[in-house]
Amino acid sequence: MDNQAFCTNPQIWKNDEDERPNVQFNWDKSARTIDNLLMSITELSSISTQAFKNYGDKIKSEITKVTRDIANIQRVQDSIDAAQKALQKTGNQKNNFANYTKTETIKLKKIVNASYHSTLCIFHLKDSIVCHDNCGLEFNNTSSGTSYFSGCFCMGSDGICNQCGCGPSSHVHDKVKLVEQTQTINKVLEDIKAQYDDANQQHQKYSNDVTSYQSSLSTLQTAANAKYGHIHKLCHDLSKICSRFNFVDELHTHIESMKQDSRMIQNINLRKNAELEIQRLEKLANDLSSKRGRNYS
Ligand SMILES: [Zn+2]
Ligand SMILES: [Zn+2]
Ligand SMILES: [Zn+2]
Repeated sequence: MDNQAFCTNPQIWKNDEDERPNVQFNWDKSARTIDNLLMSITELSSISTQAFKNYGDKIKSEITKVTRDIANIQRVQDSIDAAQKALQKTGNQKNNFANYTKTETIKLKKIVNASYHSTLCIFHLKDSIVCHDNCGLEFNNTSSGTSYFSGCFCMGSDGICNQCGCGPSSHVHDKVKLVEQTQTINKVLEDIKAQYDDANQQHQKYSNDVTSYQSSLSTLQTAANAKYGHIHKLCHDLSKICSRFNFVDELHTHIESMKQDSRMIQNINLRKNAELEIQRLEKLANDLSSKRGRNYS
């Protein structure tokens, strides 16, 4: 670009047949170089503006997406909270209905062997009736069908046994006695058991729900974290391409919207995580913008 046309006196070469074409050639060459340079600057500027716009849009779009993630995280967290409440409630119901068996003691009458003899009725033995325990009459096991037992204490004045209602002829002696045995049995209270089973089923369902929501939450959180990382990378890339991009001004609205959504998160850990990421992003925007300032000073 050192052009003879500017550095030398035109009087010297104006009418010089050898020198003038030489100067003309160099002049044209310089003009072409300037044209090329201008072309390059134009192209450079257009690429840069496009890239700048693309990056800016991408960053804003990623922030919008991560803001949606934050809202979804809160929605899933709400579902977890609701399922956990229901889990607690059905757990209590389960406990309330857990005693669906009742222990009952029943008394069983049983005729067992004894060292002494008693009067029995052959018709009513099966009903565990002993007509006269430890009978005072002499032991006699050959008098069945006779009136021997009319003298037994069990016979009323009408000649009818006051224990079984039969006459003397159906009575015998045997070395037995009547005992009462107590037995405990577990009785299932069906209506309570049905309520227990119902609560148990619900409890299991909510327990599965909690597990499944927690897994969704973890997936969402991982995706959001990846987006935060991507936003940082895009910001760094953009700052390399366009040092004039004012991150603080450009991203202010988006970051504010993220902040608002993150404030809605009720779970302390999740909210802290979102707030921390937003702080990191704000710091990055500040750092990149102040770097831009330093470049100018
Ligand atoms: Zn008797
Ligand atoms: Zn009898
Ligand atoms: Zn009888």
